[in-house]
Amino acid sequence: MSERGVYIGRYVVPKDREYYEIRNPADTRQLVAKFPKLTREDTRGTIAIAKDAFLKWSKTLPVERAKILYKAAEIIESRANDLAKLLTMEEGKTLADSMFEVIRTVNLLRFYAGLIVKDMGKVIPSQDRNTIILTTREPLGVIAVITPWNFPLSLPAWKIIPAIATGNTVVWKPASITPTIALELVKAFYEAGLPEGVLNLVTGPASEVGDELVTNREVDAITFTGSLQTGREINEKVGRQNRFVRIQLELGGKNAMVLSKNGDANLAVELTVRSAFGLTGQACTATSRFLVPEDMHDEVLSKLIERTKKVVVGNGLRQGVDMGPLASREQYEKVLGYIEIGKNEGAKLVYGGQPIKGGEEFDYGYFVMPTIFDQVTPDMRIAKEEIFGPVLAVMTYRTLDEAIDIVNSTEYGLIAGIITRDISEAAKFAENVKVGVVKVNKPTIGLEPWVPYGGVKGSGNDIYKEMGEEAIEFFTRIKATYIGY
Ligand code: NAD
Repeated sequence: MSERGVYIGRYVVPKDREYYEIRNPADTRQLVAKFPKLTREDTRGTIAIAKDAFLKWSKTLPVERAKILYKAAEIIESRANDLAKLLTMEEGKTLADSMFEVIRTVNLLRFYAGLIVKDMGKVIPSQDRNTIILTTREPLGVIAVITPWNFPLSLPAWKIIPAIATGNTVVWKPASITPTIALELVKAFYEAGLPEGVLNLVTGPASEVGDELVTNREVDAITFTGSLQTGREINEKVGRQNRFVRIQLELGGKNAMVLSKNGDANLAVELTVRSAFGLTGQACTATSRFLVPEDMHDEVLSKLIERTKKVVVGNGLRQGVDMGPLASREQYEKVLGYIEIGKNEGAKLVYGGQPIKGGEEFDYGYFVMPTIFDQVTPDMRIAKEEIFGPVLAVMTYRTLDEAIDIVNSTEYGLIAGIITRDISEAAKFAENVKVGVVKVNKPTIGLEPWVPYGGVKGSGNDIYKEMGEEAIEFFTRIKATYIGY
């Protein structure tokens, strides 16, 4: 039976709801699962269940919650191969990239399990005698978690784990196209002993399920990752309600990699190809602009094209594949649309630019060639807008100051990279680029779970960070208690 259920307190396969299909983007003949389209009322009911569960869960001891997280880590680790395969079948990324997500989820579980049994407050010396002042951290209540499809396991995990570790309850809406792997994460938590109602999973249209999560006044905080457009919409809706609720918005990117004249061109090409075409360019951390010194342009471009020719595109389940399909028809059409825009606005298409068809492997999937545009200028749409696919814009610059200006010229501010052997140059770059993460001689993709993460400008509302110890700040509030004796 392909029908899957949701967690509304407990696991339910609703009988009287419409179901929608999830198909493998590498081979759309293959049905992965069917999920129910829940309604606004269903979502409202689930929020009430989470609110009720909060009463008990918020009073559990950190050590009791940590035990469940450790157990969930063990369960997920023991299923790593099956989960990675399922993730690839649903989202399309390569098996190695899916495995990376599974392992990162295990690491996040263990990291937060260790963290919450540590100190969570301070003792502050008082100006009065016989007085102790201490601060404690308390959970907020019901957290709405709304996530995209491109990291369908580890990204929700880096929100859900610190949320429930600190005593909150969660209602999670995964992206419509990746609920199957989401369900596996929730299952693992319950098998590890999580009490009913603490983590809930709701599937269905964003206009009903997503909207209710954003506007329901019983929700105490909203953590969202997705596009700038949706982030703005959510921010505006909550603002109009004049309601005091925490919102964490992590949005898109238009990340640049800069090769300095003092940098290793081969390293720059290698890391750029991995960051631009790995994950089929569908990473918020992907490199989509490659800035090259004007007088190195010809040499670097030919190296870049030669290296890109070696990128193996195909079904992510197949050994040796570097780049899978785009994750959906919508993504496929959007990326091909941007390739047309690039051609029409005068950028020079020097590699790729086409869908891949032919044979059993390609005819039923959303495959596009890795694509390189040269002679891209900062005013072009393909240099400014997030394409979220395997399309790289090559741009040139004369001085480091000019390169920094170009890096900062889009409305986004997520990640920027530089390839250089000059430490002063690296430091100057890091100080002046307006982003949340800087990489020096490293790919723009790839984040470590113990490091705080988040974008600035249009890449996020930049009030709270995700991951690292800092994630705890979003999910807890501080109380100060004065005790006289
Ligand atoms: P999206 O904004 O379309 O959707 C994200 C989630 O929000 C989905 O679950 C969707 O169903 C839901 N949603 C859509 N409209 C909504 C509404 N009006 N109210 C409530 N919920 C709504 O984004 P996407 O296409 O799923 O993901 C791609 C985007 O995510 C890209 O822009 C990418 O850069 C961004 N992203 C950012 C990060 C980061 O950490 N900054 C990480 C991954 C992806």
